[in-house]
Amino acid sequence: MTHDDLLPLLQTTFGYPAFRPLQREIIAASLAGRDTFALLPTGGGKSLCFQLPALVRPGLTVVVSPLIALMKDQVDQLQAAGVAATFLNSSLGEAAARSRLAGLHRGEWRLLYVAPERLLLDGWQENLKAWNISALAIDEAHCVSEWGHDFRPEYRQLTRVRDLLPGVPVMALTATATDRVRADIITQLRLHEPAVFVASFNRPNLTYRVLPKDEPLRQITDFVHKRPDEGGIVYCATRATTERVAESLAKRGLPARAYHAGLTQTERSENQELFLRDEVRIICATIAFGMGINKPNVRWVIHHDLPKNLEGYYPETGRAGRDGLPADCLLLFSGGDAAKQTHFIDEMTDEHERNVARAQLRQMTHYAENAACRRRELLAYFGETFPLDHCGACDNCLEPRDTYDGTVVAQKFLSCVYRIHEAGRFGVGVNHITEVLTGADTEKIRRWGHARLSTYGIGKELARPQWAAVGRELMRLGHVAQSQGEFPVLELTDAGLAVLRTRQPVSLTRPMESPKARKTIRREGDIACDEILFARLRELRKKLADERRVPAYVIFGDATLRQMAREYPATEAAMPGMFGMGEKKRAEFGAIFAAAIRTFLEHNPRMKFTA
Ligand code: ADP
Ligand code: ZN
Repeated sequence: MTHDDLLPLLQTTFGYPAFRPLQREIIAASLAGRDTFALLPTGGGKSLCFQLPALVRPGLTVVVSPLIALMKDQVDQLQAAGVAATFLNSSLGEAAARSRLAGLHRGEWRLLYVAPERLLLDGWQENLKAWNISALAIDEAHCVSEWGHDFRPEYRQLTRVRDLLPGVPVMALTATATDRVRADIITQLRLHEPAVFVASFNRPNLTYRVLPKDEPLRQITDFVHKRPDEGGIVYCATRATTERVAESLAKRGLPARAYHAGLTQTERSENQELFLRDEVRIICATIAFGMGINKPNVRWVIHHDLPKNLEGYYPETGRAGRDGLPADCLLLFSGGDAAKQTHFIDEMTDEHERNVARAQLRQMTHYAENAACRRRELLAYFGETFPLDHCGACDNCLEPRDTYDGTVVAQKFLSCVYRIHEAGRFGVGVNHITEVLTGADTEKIRRWGHARLSTYGIGKELARPQWAAVGRELMRLGHVAQSQGEFPVLELTDAGLAVLRTRQPVSLTRPMESPKARKTIRREGDIACDEILFARLRELRKKLADERRVPAYVIFGDATLRQMAREYPATEAAMPGMFGMGEKKRAEFGAIFAAAIRTFLEHNPRMKFTA
């Protein structure tokens, strides 16, 4: 087999018209017998890098994965595409495990998924020798590194497996690796002169947005209503919030489930399963949810609370749109959330940790409040330069925020800080300042007599959250500084004092507005199709998936259904070339879907789509 034959194999088996970036190169290097290291973003298509070569080379490819929940899923998908794949892990009964082992001894499988600890069980050394293993793939390879975020000691033992299989090429794959972790993976797994592939972390199909969080539930409900039939994840900071949000959404007619580490194993897998099978559209989760989710049609990810850092935020958003179709990432940002976190950080005992956490939080808030391209900023954080100033797929590029002459606004804010300080000789937090500016009647204002200040009630033209945003922007501009400690207070800096005294002009960013209009959104890059037929085909897919007890995407991805709902292949003969439909799936499902399309066309006109 030459490398020219890889593409036809990709098409006939997986039904994909082309390789994703670096897939072909990674596969070629591995087939040439080299150790390989592949760093691809989530959704970059890592699995295919070892699945395809496994079909080309003789013998068995062993795939090590820490995620037991995911093995069945991947194996289901492979089997649906006609690939002889299986897995062995603790979820199998004894009889099932025994029959799979026998199959391995007979050489019936091309791919075996297995957890790392399995490989080191007694008796496995003989197995490994007997099975004619021709490649070893190590998924989530960062688990081998103590510097990574998910160190698993079992992974360290994999070097012993290497010793047992001299000459077998190893492929290490991960989506998360800093330089240090990358080097560590190569050392720990003793990769031999590996071919290293690092893909861009840009996810062109994701759109990034930030909204000021005012009424999160209403904001989430609006967002979800605009996307009927689409599923997504709401990430929350605490277990309690996941449950509260899930309940409130359910009350508003949007069935949702919670997912967090405090649920029993059964509840967790039930909720996850419902989500995977598209029974509930929404999962409200702590960050415990994610690793092990490879549902390709997660159409959106909302962050209800401010993440601690961009390292965490980026892969969380990355769970959206793995199938390459457009997907949305929304962060609900509030200065209050940032203040809450600062408070926690201040209580950390380790000084180094505290400083790291502070710096990370600053970067996170900066990301949220910055008016420049969000994609550029995210990629820059991961050391990548996005070649354009405007990506065209983030709120700041799509709806650039204007700046305005904020001199008067700034003067009001700064003088309020100044007056309060002068009157009381003690500082107050940003909240109190916004209350004085808007002329609120609070207990503190009465106690401290702040209603008598000349700045009391001079800022009624803005609402309190807007004043808070002004405060944060003045902080970023260096005109006020916030003290550290339990009750952060605002102080004028020398620069701020100069602004006040010299009436220097200040330019401010117009605050973000939460769009209120409710309409279904269409995204750039979405495959335009007959939405009614698409809905029918989705129902059919769900029925077939339920009969087979697999998630819907094991049958076909959304892109496949959209293409059908656009081109109306009403006979089986019209099916070849449909995205994601290899020969096996065509044989199994082609006629069923063609029949459904015929029935549809008897009662509905055929629509025409250009471009
Ligand atoms: P990763 O493990 O890198 O996050 P996956 O291996 O789960 O990504 O792949 C993400 C999705 O992309 C899967 O649905 C997979 O079938 C699909 N995919 C992989 N390679 C291609 C390709 N060349 N063309 C189209 N889709 C692909
Ligand atoms: Zn942008």
